[in-house]
Amino acid sequence: MIIVLKSGASDAQVEDVCHRITAMGYSPHTIRGALRTVIGAVGDDRGKDALRSLESLECVESVTPILKPFKLASREVRDEPTEIRVGDVTIGGKSLVVMAGPCSVESRPQLLEAAEKVKAAGAHILRGGAFKPRTSPYAFQGLEDEGLKLLAEAKRETGLPIVTEVMEPEKVDIVAEHADILQIGARNVQNFPLLRRVGDAGKPVLLKRGMATTIQEWLLSAEYVLARGNPNVILCERGIRTFEASTRFTLDLNAVPTVKKLSHLPILVDPSHGTGHWELVEAMAMAGIAAGADGLIIEVHPRPEEALSDGPQSLKPERFARLMQRARRVAGAMDRDL
Ligand code: PEP
Ligand code: MN
Repeated sequence: MIIVLKSGASDAQVEDVCHRITAMGYSPHTIRGALRTVIGAVGDDRGKDALRSLESLECVESVTPILKPFKLASREVRDEPTEIRVGDVTIGGKSLVVMAGPCSVESRPQLLEAAEKVKAAGAHILRGGAFKPRTSPYAFQGLEDEGLKLLAEAKRETGLPIVTEVMEPEKVDIVAEHADILQIGARNVQNFPLLRRVGDAGKPVLLKRGMATTIQEWLLSAEYVLARGNPNVILCERGIRTFEASTRFTLDLNAVPTVKKLSHLPILVDPSHGTGHWELVEAMAMAGIAAGADGLIIEVHPRPEEALSDGPQSLKPERFARLMQRARRVAGAMDRDL
C-alpha cells in the first residue's frame, strides 16, 4: 500500500505513521519527495485492509494499493528518478556515467594499464571481474580474492570507484570490503538468497538483466534488494536470448524506455555482452544513450587478443576513447552531459 501524507506533515507525524505500519506487521519505506512524503508499506498482502485505517489520521491524505507487483521499484511509490552517489559520481542524474575495464582481472599490469587508459578516456568507474561466472568449469574462473586486492590497488592508483561481480552469498562481505558497487550477473538475477544478502550489504547494487528474464521478473528481483532497505539499485540491460545467432545476445533496447516508464531506478546499457563483437559495441552504445539510458558499461582490454574472457567483445583503449568522444555528442543531443 502507498500512504501519501499531506504536504507539511511533520517529522513526528511521519515517524508515528511508520510506527503504526510496523505494528501492523509491515515494513515502512519512507520516500521524501519535493512536495510530499510517501510511505510504502511493504509486506504480506493478506493484512492490507488493516492499513486502510491509517486514512483516518489527520496527516494522511490517502491510502491506496500499489497495483504493480513490484512495489518499491515502481513509479507508483516514487515518481522522481533515483540518483545514486558513488564517491564523486552520481548515477541516474543529468550526467551519464560510464563504467569500463576488462571482463576479468587477469594480472596487476593488465588491470593497472586498463584502469589508467579508461580513466584517461573519461570513464567514471572501473569494472573488472574477480569472481567469474563461466559456462565451462574448465574456463578461467577469475583471480578471486587476489583480484579484489588488485581492484583496490587500481582504485588507489586512479581514484576510480570499483564495480565487480559477487556470485555467492558467502562472498558478499569480502567483495563489499573492496568494491564500491556490487554487480549481480545475468546468471544470478533470480538467486534470491544472494539478492537478499546484497540488500543487507549497504553498497549500491548493479543488477544485470538475466538472459531469459522478463522486465517484470527483473524489477521483482530489484524489489528483493529494495525490500531489505537498500534503495541503491542500478539496472543494466545486457541482452537477452533470442533465435538470432549472429550476435551473442540480442540487446533489448526496448527495455530502456520501458523500465523508465515503470520504475524510478537508473538503467545502464551493456553493449559488450549485448552484442558479443567489438565492431558492434560503439553503434549499440550510441543507441543505448539515444534510448535514454543513464550510462554504459563497456569491456576494455589493453590487448583483447590475450584476454582470458570475452576478448572478442572487448575494445582496445583507443577504440574506447573514440567511443567516448562520440558518446559525448549523442549525450548532448539527448540533453544529457558526459
Ligand atoms: C560480465 O560483466 O563480465 C558478465 C559476466 O556479465 P553478464 O552477467 O551480463 O553475463
Ligand atoms: Mn564479460
